[in-house]
Amino acid sequence: MAVTLACIGGRAAYDLLHEGALLAERLGTQATPFGDSQPIYRCKSRSGEFYFLSRHGETRYERTPTFINYRANIYALKDLGVRCIVSWSETRAISHNFKIGQYVVVDDLLDETVSRPQTFFENRGLGHIRQWPVFCPSLRKALIDSLVQVNCEFSSRGVYVCVEGPRHETPAEARKYAAFGGELLGQALVPEVFLAHELQMCYASLCYVARFAEDGTNYRPFEDGRALTEKAERTRATAAVERIPRLLERFCHVLPETPSLCQCESSMAAHTTSGELGLDWRTWFDQPELTEPPRTDLT
Ligand SMILES: [Zn+2]
Repeated sequence: MAVTLACIGGRAAYDLLHEGALLAERLGTQATPFGDSQPIYRCKSRSGEFYFLSRHGETRYERTPTFINYRANIYALKDLGVRCIVSWSETRAISHNFKIGQYVVVDDLLDETVSRPQTFFENRGLGHIRQWPVFCPSLRKALIDSLVQVNCEFSSRGVYVCVEGPRHETPAEARKYAAFGGELLGQALVPEVFLAHELQMCYASLCYVARFAEDGTNYRPFEDGRALTEKAERTRATAAVERIPRLLERFCHVLPETPSLCQCESSMAAHTTSGELGLDWRTWFDQPELTEPPRTDLT
């Protein structure tokens, strides 16, 4: 049976692979017109199969978000037949309305990255795509239903600010993002989500809060009358990742029962209808044969 779901793992995804938390067959890297993808795994769960890709590295945190080949990763998954991608991203919360260790099914995004290729269509007049909804409503609903069924603490909305990194934000930057309406800081969802739109794929992200954003003090967040220690923060972030295989299994069960609420598969319809792009997406990246101009005899 064709596998149409993929998960892109964030920080500590390599730990899940290493520890055998996912029952997975390694397919390896995939060659694409944009370079090689990260190694891809085919995973089995009791509720279905999905592809899995660890965006930061296979065995450890090998590359920071700036140096990830997002285009190769998204292209490779599309080439394998994937239609839906769920990803995860560790975040730092700007707003204290969130708790450390809590999941957030983000629904909007501010892009503050500065040096990442944002499109498959370099040097072509394509890619003017409406970015609402930013994240696929069908996948978001399936994620929310899965979180309810697994009894996890979560927020069903949040505005993710994608910063370049790898450094963390300054206190002034955190205040700026808050003034713009940002609620969670992360480094990984851009350009992943925008590239998925260009290949007409459904994409949603399950974020978790690892700590609060920089505020320029040594203030420790309080919960139940006690200051939360750094060790407690790390324990909660680790637990959030360790629950993800179980959540994915539930998600595989819930997704087929979720009504389609989206038009992600026709996001490039304006270009295919006009004839600028063919109906087969693979032809979108065919390079025209370079022909030598006719020689002229100058003598
Ligand atoms: Zn969709």
